[in-house]
Amino acid sequence: MAIAPLTLALSKGRIFDETLPLLAAAGIGVPENPESSRKLILPTDSGDLRIIIVRASDVPTYVQYGAADFGIAGKDVLYEHEAQHPGGLYQPIDLNIARCRLCVAAPEGFDYQGAVHQGSRLRIATKYTRAAREHFAAKGVHVDLIKLYGSMELAPLVGLADAIVDLISSGGTIRANHLVEVEEIRQISSRLIVNQAALKMQGARLQPILDAFERASAQMA
Ligand code: ATP
Ligand code: MG
Repeated sequence: MAIAPLTLALSKGRIFDETLPLLAAAGIGVPENPESSRKLILPTDSGDLRIIIVRASDVPTYVQYGAADFGIAGKDVLYEHEAQHPGGLYQPIDLNIARCRLCVAAPEGFDYQGAVHQGSRLRIATKYTRAAREHFAAKGVHVDLIKLYGSMELAPLVGLADAIVDLISSGGTIRANHLVEVEEIRQISSRLIVNQAALKMQGARLQPILDAFERASAQMA
């Protein structure tokens, strides 16, 4: 009887692209690219592993419920997921890929520090409501959080918010929209996440891949 291949959940784009070298370090090649093939289930040249392509914020859900044995997700996504599902995922390795920073950004002319000192109530647009809520609570700043699902940079430009909490890497996108970074909340990279039952039942098959990922990512740190 053929055993089912292990399933790795990835999002397309930077996480898929930056995972390819880790898979190569484990001796696994991926013949197709999700951008061009449009397939949501991608075979690998190891008969024992297949890749499923899901939204970045859905990766923890697929792994938590066991539809994928393991996956790769940003700490930004994991932090928001944990608010609903505390402790459900084993997160053994920081892979040091897809590195960026979670920041507060505001329009060039907005006196953010002044508003904070005066105790003004701020309207903050973000996809990262848990991280934002905890950040401003720790500073003692009162905020109204406005949940968005993308294009956060637009919100201050059209009067929806005073500032945003978003991911920044080069800063090109916020600069192009006349925003400036006013505060860093935390450094972000992606972690390997593993389904708890899969680790118990498939540990012997998973472990060589996890070890190869760990060695390869240590070299990227
Ligand atoms: P979706 O496109 O499904 O709305 P997304 O925009 O979060 O989700 P990606 O842009 O592929 O999807 O981001 C995936 C992960 O990569 C994020 O969760 C974050 O950890 C990291 N990331 C996001 N933006 C950057 C960036 N500019 N530079 C480096 N890493 C980033
Ligand atoms: Mg994005």
